[in-house]
Amino acid sequence: MCFVVKSHLLGELPERIAALSDGAFLLVADRNTALALGPEPLQRIQDATRAQLHVFTQEPQATRAQAEALLPQMQRASFAIAIGSGTLNDLVKYASHKTGIPYGVIATAPSMNGYTSPTASLIDSGGLKHSFSAHAPAALFADIDILAAAPARMIAAGVGDTLCRSTVEADWRLAHTRGKAVFDESIMAPLRAAEQALFAHTARVAARDPGAIRLLWDALIAGGNAMRAHGSSMPASQGEHMLAHLMESHYPESALLHGEAIAVTTCYMAQLQERLLPTLGDKAVWIGEHRHHPDALRAALAAAGCPTTAEAVGWDAGALEAIAKTAWQTRDRYTFLNMLAEA
Ligand SMILES: [Zn+2]
Repeated sequence: MCFVVKSHLLGELPERIAALSDGAFLLVADRNTALALGPEPLQRIQDATRAQLHVFTQEPQATRAQAEALLPQMQRASFAIAIGSGTLNDLVKYASHKTGIPYGVIATAPSMNGYTSPTASLIDSGGLKHSFSAHAPAALFADIDILAAAPARMIAAGVGDTLCRSTVEADWRLAHTRGKAVFDESIMAPLRAAEQALFAHTARVAARDPGAIRLLWDALIAGGNAMRAHGSSMPASQGEHMLAHLMESHYPESALLHGEAIAVTTCYMAQLQERLLPTLGDKAVWIGEHRHHPDALRAALAAAGCPTTAEAVGWDAGALEAIAKTAWQTRDRYTFLNMLAEA
C-alpha cells in the first residue's frame, strides 16, 4: 500500500497518482471535496492522469444504491481515486471492489477511521447500515494542511470515532472473560497507544494545530489497521457503535456525522461500564484496566467540540435508554449492553 501523510503534499499528487497505474483513472469527488483540493490542483491531477472526473452535484449518501450507480463508470477505469472522507471513501471502496479494480483515496478530513479498513459502511435498501466486505485502498494520500482545514464538525467527529477505544476495549475484555471472544492485546496495544497520545490534546485538535491533527490522523489509521489485522471491526466497534447505528436509524433525518453519534454513545457506554464494573468482582480490574473515567472522557470529547449528550444531537434521552436495553440483539458481539439487558 502506498501511504503518504505530510504537509504540502498537494503539489506532489499529480505525479504520485499518475505513478499508480498506466491505465484509465476515475476520480470521484463531491462539490465540497473538490473545493477542499481546489480547482487548480484538481485540474493538474486530471491533466497528469488523463482521468475521468465524476463530481456528485448533490451531497452523496452512503447507500449501496449510490455506490452501485458508480459501477458503469468504474467498469471503464482501471484505477479509481476517491477524493473525500467517510461517504466518498465507502462508495468508491465498494464500487471499485465490485468492479475488481484497485482504488486510492485523497483524504479531505480526519473524520473517521475507515480509510484503511477493508469494509464499506453503507445503508442497505432496508434503511439499516451494514458493513460490507470490500478491499483496503492501494494508496492513501493525506495532506495535513487539507485535513486541518476540514470543517470543524468533521475534525471533531474523528476524535469521537477514536476516543471510543476506551469503551471498546472494556467491552472486548468483558466478552473475553465470558468466553464470547478472544481479546488480542497485540492488536489493541498500538491503537491504544495512538489514542492515548491524542487524548490530552483534543483542544489543540479543535484549534487545528497541525501537530495535533497529525496525532488524530495517526490514531484514525491505527484504528483502521487494527480492524484489518483482526479481520473484523472488533477492535474499534463494540456497544457504542451498535447503539449509535440503532439511534441513527431511529432518527434517520438527523444527518449526524458517524463520529458525533459515536461520541454520544461512547459517553453513555462509559457511564454504563462505570456502573456495572463493580458487579464483576475480581475480573473488574482487568476488564477496566485501560478505561478513561467517564468524566475525563466527556471532557476530552467536549474539548474537541464533540457532542456528549443525547440532547445535544436531538435524541430523546429516554429513547436512548430504551434502545440500549435491546441493542445487544443487533449483532453477535457480547458487550456491556448484554449485561444491561440481563440486569
Ligand atoms: Zn466508527
